[in-house]
Amino acid sequence: MEARSYDFCVEMQNIHKFYGHVHALKGVDIKVRQGEVCVAIGPSGSGKSTLLRCINQLESISAGRVFLKGELQGYTEREGRFHPLSPAQIAAQRRVTGMVFQRFHLFPHMTAIENVMEGPRHVKGWPRERSRKKARELLTRVGLEGFENRYPAQLSGGQQQRVAIARALAMEPDVMLFDEPTSALDPELVGEVLDVIKDLARSGITMVVVTHEIGFAREVGNHLVFMDQGQIVEEGVPRTMLANPQNPRTAAFLSKVL
Ligand code: ADP
Repeated sequence: MEARSYDFCVEMQNIHKFYGHVHALKGVDIKVRQGEVCVAIGPSGSGKSTLLRCINQLESISAGRVFLKGELQGYTEREGRFHPLSPAQIAAQRRVTGMVFQRFHLFPHMTAIENVMEGPRHVKGWPRERSRKKARELLTRVGLEGFENRYPAQLSGGQQQRVAIARALAMEPDVMLFDEPTSALDPELVGEVLDVIKDLARSGITMVVVTHEIGFAREVGNHLVFMDQGQIVEEGVPRTMLANPQNPRTAAFLSKVL
Protein backbone atom coordinates (compact mmCIF):
# COMPACT_ATOMS: atom_id res chain seq x y z
CA MET A 1 0.00 0.00 0.00
CA GLU A 2 1.27 3.49 -0.78
CA ALA A 3 2.71 5.53 2.09
CA ARG A 4 0.67 8.61 2.84
CA SER A 5 1.21 11.55 5.12
CA TYR A 6 -1.39 12.30 7.74
CA ASP A 7 -1.95 14.64 10.67
CA PHE A 8 -4.04 12.29 12.78
CA CYS A 9 -3.70 8.62 13.59
CA VAL A 10 -7.46 8.45 14.18
CA GLU A 11 -9.89 10.90 12.66
CA MET A 12 -13.68 10.60 12.82
CA GLN A 13 -15.70 13.10 10.86
CA ASN A 14 -19.36 13.66 11.66
CA ILE A 15 -20.08 10.04 12.56
CA HIS A 16 -23.67 8.92 12.91
CA LYS A 17 -24.70 5.47 13.98
CA PHE A 18 -28.21 4.06 14.12
CA TYR A 19 -29.21 0.74 15.63
CA GLY A 20 -32.69 0.51 14.16
CA HIS A 21 -34.39 3.58 15.59
CA VAL A 22 -31.72 4.19 18.24
CA HIS A 23 -29.51 7.10 17.20
CA ALA A 24 -26.42 6.01 19.14
CA LEU A 25 -23.92 8.51 17.66
CA LYS A 26 -25.14 11.91 16.55
CA GLY A 27 -22.39 13.59 14.59
CA VAL A 28 -19.19 12.74 16.46
CA ASP A 29 -15.83 14.27 15.49
CA ILE A 30 -12.61 13.03 17.01
CA LYS A 31 -8.97 13.63 16.17
CA VAL A 32 -6.15 11.71 17.83
CA ARG A 33 -2.54 12.43 16.98
CA GLN A 34 0.20 9.83 16.91
CA GLY A 35 1.22 8.94 20.47
CA GLU A 36 -1.78 10.62 22.10
CA VAL A 37 -4.00 8.99 24.69
CA CYS A 38 -7.61 9.99 24.15
CA VAL A 39 -9.90 9.02 27.03
CA ALA A 40 -13.69 8.89 26.67
CA ILE A 41 -15.97 9.06 29.70
CA GLY A 42 -19.71 9.43 30.10
CA PRO A 43 -22.81 7.73 31.42
CA SER A 44 -23.82 4.22 30.41
CA GLY A 45 -25.55 4.22 27.02
CA SER A 46 -23.95 7.50 25.88
CA GLY A 47 -22.28 5.81 22.87
CA LYS A 48 -18.70 5.31 24.07
CA SER A 49 -18.47 1.65 23.14
CA THR A 50 -20.16 2.28 19.79
CA LEU A 51 -17.61 5.00 19.09
CA LEU A 52 -14.72 2.57 19.62
CA ARG A 53 -16.39 -0.14 17.56
CA CYS A 54 -16.87 2.28 14.68
CA ILE A 55 -13.14 3.08 14.71
CA ASN A 56 -12.18 -0.51 13.89
CA GLN A 57 -15.20 -1.45 11.78
CA LEU A 58 -16.73 -3.81 14.32
CA GLU A 59 -19.80 -1.69 13.64
CA SER A 60 -20.69 -0.16 10.30
CA ILE A 61 -21.25 3.57 10.44
CA SER A 62 -24.50 5.10 9.19
CA ALA A 63 -22.91 8.36 8.01
CA GLY A 64 -19.59 10.17 8.20
CA ARG A 65 -16.01 9.11 7.63
CA VAL A 66 -13.37 7.35 9.68
CA PHE A 67 -9.70 7.69 8.76
CA LEU A 68 -6.85 5.71 10.32
CA LYS A 69 -3.39 7.02 9.48
CA GLY A 70 -5.01 9.12 6.78
CA GLU A 71 -6.76 6.20 5.09
CA LEU A 72 -10.53 6.15 4.71
CA GLN A 73 -11.93 3.06 6.45
CA GLY A 74 -14.35 0.65 4.84
CA TYR A 75 -14.69 2.41 1.50
CA THR A 76 -12.91 4.03 -1.37
CA GLU A 77 -14.31 7.34 -2.47
CA ARG A 78 -14.27 8.11 -6.18
CA GLU A 79 -15.99 11.14 -7.69
CA GLY A 80 -18.05 11.64 -4.57
CA ARG A 81 -19.30 8.04 -4.48
CA PHE A 82 -18.44 5.47 -1.85
CA HIS A 83 -17.50 1.96 -2.91
CA PRO A 84 -17.24 -0.66 -0.15
CA LEU A 85 -13.93 -2.43 0.25
CA SER A 86 -13.67 -6.21 0.04
CA PRO A 87 -13.66 -8.28 3.26
CA ALA A 88 -9.91 -8.90 2.77
CA GLN A 89 -9.23 -5.16 2.44
CA ILE A 90 -11.33 -4.47 5.54
CA ALA A 91 -9.46 -7.18 7.46
CA ALA A 92 -6.18 -5.51 6.47
CA GLN A 93 -7.44 -2.12 7.66
CA ARG A 94 -8.54 -3.59 10.97
CA ARG A 95 -4.98 -4.63 11.70
CA VAL A 96 -4.09 -0.98 12.29
CA THR A 97 -5.96 -1.28 15.59
CA GLY A 98 -5.81 -3.68 18.50
CA MET A 99 -8.78 -3.91 20.81
CA VAL A 100 -9.13 -4.90 24.43
CA PHE A 101 -12.64 -5.65 25.67
CA GLN A 102 -14.27 -5.45 29.06
CA ARG A 103 -14.52 -9.24 29.21
CA PHE A 104 -11.09 -10.44 27.99
CA HIS A 105 -12.41 -12.84 25.28
CA LEU A 106 -9.45 -15.22 25.56
CA PHE A 107 -9.65 -18.65 23.93
CA PRO A 108 -10.39 -20.91 26.94
CA HIS A 109 -8.80 -24.01 25.44
CA MET A 110 -5.45 -22.30 24.81
CA THR A 111 -2.74 -21.39 27.29
CA ALA A 112 -1.70 -17.77 27.82
CA ILE A 113 1.18 -18.04 25.37
CA GLU A 114 -0.94 -19.83 22.78
CA ASN A 115 -3.52 -17.06 23.01
CA VAL A 116 -0.84 -14.45 22.35
CA MET A 117 0.83 -16.46 19.55
CA GLU A 118 -2.37 -17.09 17.67
CA GLY A 119 -2.50 -13.79 15.75
CA PRO A 120 1.17 -13.64 14.67
CA ARG A 121 1.07 -17.31 13.72
CA HIS A 122 -2.19 -17.51 11.80
CA VAL A 123 -2.90 -13.96 10.68
CA LYS A 124 0.61 -12.69 10.11
CA GLY A 125 1.84 -16.14 9.08
CA TRP A 126 4.97 -16.02 11.25
CA PRO A 127 6.81 -19.28 11.99
CA ARG A 128 5.96 -20.92 15.32
CA GLU A 129 9.27 -20.09 17.06
CA ARG A 130 9.19 -16.43 16.07
CA SER A 131 5.57 -16.18 17.25
CA ARG A 132 6.43 -17.88 20.53
CA LYS A 133 9.40 -15.58 21.16
CA LYS A 134 7.29 -12.50 20.53
CA ALA A 135 4.51 -13.83 22.78
CA ARG A 136 6.98 -14.58 25.56
CA GLU A 137 8.40 -11.04 25.36
CA LEU A 138 4.93 -9.53 25.49
CA LEU A 139 3.81 -11.65 28.43
CA THR A 140 6.95 -10.49 30.27
CA ARG A 141 6.10 -6.91 29.34
CA VAL A 142 2.65 -7.22 30.96
CA GLY A 143 4.19 -8.79 34.08
CA LEU A 144 3.24 -12.41 33.35
CA GLU A 145 6.60 -14.10 33.06
CA GLY A 146 6.15 -17.64 34.43
CA PHE A 147 2.43 -17.75 33.57
CA GLU A 148 2.89 -18.70 29.91
CA ASN A 149 1.46 -22.20 30.23
CA ARG A 150 -1.57 -21.41 32.36
CA TYR A 151 -5.04 -21.64 30.89
CA PRO A 152 -7.35 -18.62 31.26
CA ALA A 153 -9.39 -20.45 33.95
CA GLN A 154 -6.17 -20.72 36.01
CA LEU A 155 -5.59 -16.95 35.92
CA SER A 156 -7.21 -14.10 37.84
CA GLY A 157 -9.32 -11.58 35.94
CA GLY A 158 -6.48 -9.06 36.06
CA GLN A 159 -4.04 -11.61 34.68
CA GLN A 160 -6.48 -12.62 31.94
CA GLN A 161 -6.88 -8.99 30.93
CA ARG A 162 -3.10 -8.59 30.79
CA VAL A 163 -2.92 -11.64 28.49
CA ALA A 164 -5.61 -9.98 26.34
CA ILE A 165 -3.49 -6.81 26.16
CA ALA A 166 -0.43 -8.88 25.16
CA ARG A 167 -2.51 -10.63 22.53
CA ALA A 168 -3.64 -7.34 21.01
CA LEU A 169 -0.05 -6.02 21.05
CA ALA A 170 1.21 -9.17 19.31
CA MET A 171 -0.37 -7.95 16.08
CA GLU A 172 1.76 -4.77 16.31
CA PRO A 173 -1.13 -2.34 15.95
CA ASP A 174 -0.63 1.40 15.52
CA VAL A 175 -3.61 2.23 17.71
CA MET A 176 -4.86 0.44 20.82
CA LEU A 177 -8.55 0.64 21.66
CA PHE A 178 -9.64 -0.15 25.21
CA ASP A 179 -13.33 -0.66 25.97
CA GLU A 180 -13.75 -0.34 29.75
CA PRO A 181 -10.80 -2.68 30.33
CA THR A 182 -11.16 -2.74 34.11
CA SER A 183 -14.95 -2.74 34.52
CA ALA A 184 -15.28 -6.51 34.89
CA LEU A 185 -12.50 -6.76 37.48
CA ASP A 186 -12.63 -7.02 41.24
CA PRO A 187 -11.45 -3.69 42.69
CA GLU A 188 -8.14 -5.07 43.94
CA LEU A 189 -7.20 -6.18 40.41
CA VAL A 190 -7.88 -2.87 38.66
CA GLY A 191 -4.51 -1.32 39.53
CA GLU A 192 -2.36 -4.00 37.89
CA VAL A 193 -4.21 -3.62 34.59
CA LEU A 194 -4.14 0.18 34.68
CA ASP A 195 -0.39 0.03 35.38
CA VAL A 196 0.15 -1.99 32.22
CA ILE A 197 -1.93 0.46 30.19
CA LYS A 198 0.01 3.39 31.70
CA ASP A 199 3.28 1.76 30.67
CA LEU A 200 1.99 1.38 27.15
CA ALA A 201 0.96 5.01 27.07
CA ARG A 202 4.48 6.02 28.12
CA SER A 203 5.91 3.86 25.34
CA GLY A 204 4.18 6.19 22.88
CA ILE A 205 1.51 3.98 21.35
CA THR A 206 -1.62 5.85 20.29
CA MET A 207 -4.68 4.94 22.34
CA VAL A 208 -8.37 5.53 22.68
CA VAL A 209 -9.58 4.41 26.10
CA VAL A 210 -13.16 4.21 27.31
CA THR A 211 -13.12 4.05 31.08
CA HIS A 212 -14.83 4.96 34.32
CA GLU A 213 -11.43 5.42 35.97
CA ILE A 214 -11.29 9.19 36.30
CA GLY A 215 -7.92 9.09 38.08
CA PHE A 216 -6.47 7.23 35.10
CA ALA A 217 -7.97 9.78 32.71
CA ARG A 218 -6.37 12.61 34.66
CA GLU A 219 -2.98 10.99 34.98
CA VAL A 220 -2.52 9.32 31.60
CA GLY A 221 -4.86 11.05 29.16
CA ASN A 222 -3.71 13.82 26.83
CA HIS A 223 -7.22 14.49 25.71
CA LEU A 224 -10.51 13.90 27.50
CA VAL A 225 -13.87 13.51 25.82
CA PHE A 226 -17.15 13.58 27.72
CA MET A 227 -20.03 11.89 25.89
CA ASP A 228 -23.71 12.09 26.64
CA GLN A 229 -26.64 10.89 24.53
CA GLY A 230 -24.53 10.11 21.47
CA GLN A 231 -22.66 13.39 21.37
CA ILE A 232 -19.39 14.81 22.57
CA VAL A 233 -20.63 17.39 25.03
CA GLU A 234 -17.22 18.64 26.16
CA GLU A 235 -13.57 17.88 25.47
CA GLY A 236 -10.22 19.20 26.52
CA VAL A 237 -7.12 18.70 28.63
CA PRO A 238 -8.10 16.16 31.33
CA ARG A 239 -6.72 18.00 34.35
CA THR A 240 -8.36 21.28 33.39
CA MET A 241 -11.66 19.77 32.37
CA LEU A 242 -11.97 17.58 35.46
CA ALA A 243 -11.15 20.46 37.78
CA ASN A 244 -13.39 22.92 36.04
CA PRO A 245 -16.00 21.43 33.69
CA GLN A 246 -17.69 24.03 31.51
CA ASN A 247 -20.84 22.15 30.58
CA PRO A 248 -23.46 21.47 33.28
CA ARG A 249 -23.90 17.88 31.99
CA THR A 250 -20.18 17.21 32.45
CA ALA A 251 -20.31 18.75 35.89
CA ALA A 252 -23.35 16.66 36.87
CA PHE A 253 -21.68 13.45 35.68
CA LEU A 254 -18.41 14.20 37.44
CA SER A 255 -20.17 15.08 40.66
CA LYS A 256 -21.54 11.52 40.67
CA VAL A 257 -18.32 9.69 39.87
CA LEU A 258 -15.59 11.74 41.57
P1 ADP B 1 -21.86 3.14 26.28
O1 ADP B 1 -20.65 2.41 25.80
O2 ADP B 1 -21.60 4.60 26.52
O3 ADP B 1 -22.51 2.49 27.47
P2 ADP B 1 -23.13 2.11 23.89
O4 ADP B 1 -22.28 2.55 22.76
O5 ADP B 1 -22.96 0.70 24.38
O6 ADP B 1 -22.95 3.12 25.11
O7 ADP B 1 -24.68 2.29 23.53
C1 ADP B 1 -25.19 3.49 22.95
C2 ADP B 1 -26.66 3.28 22.62
O8 ADP B 1 -26.80 2.34 21.58
C3 ADP B 1 -27.49 2.75 23.79
O9 ADP B 1 -28.79 3.30 23.70
C4 ADP B 1 -27.54 1.27 23.52
O10 ADP B 1 -28.66 0.67 24.09
C5 ADP B 1 -27.57 1.22 22.00
N1 ADP B 1 -26.92 0.03 21.44
C6 ADP B 1 -25.63 -0.34 21.59
N2 ADP B 1 -25.35 -1.47 20.92
C7 ADP B 1 -26.51 -1.85 20.33
C8 ADP B 1 -26.90 -2.94 19.50
N3 ADP B 1 -26.02 -3.87 19.12
N4 ADP B 1 -28.19 -2.99 19.08
C9 ADP B 1 -29.07 -2.05 19.43
N5 ADP B 1 -28.79 -0.99 20.22
C10 ADP B 1 -27.53 -0.89 20.66
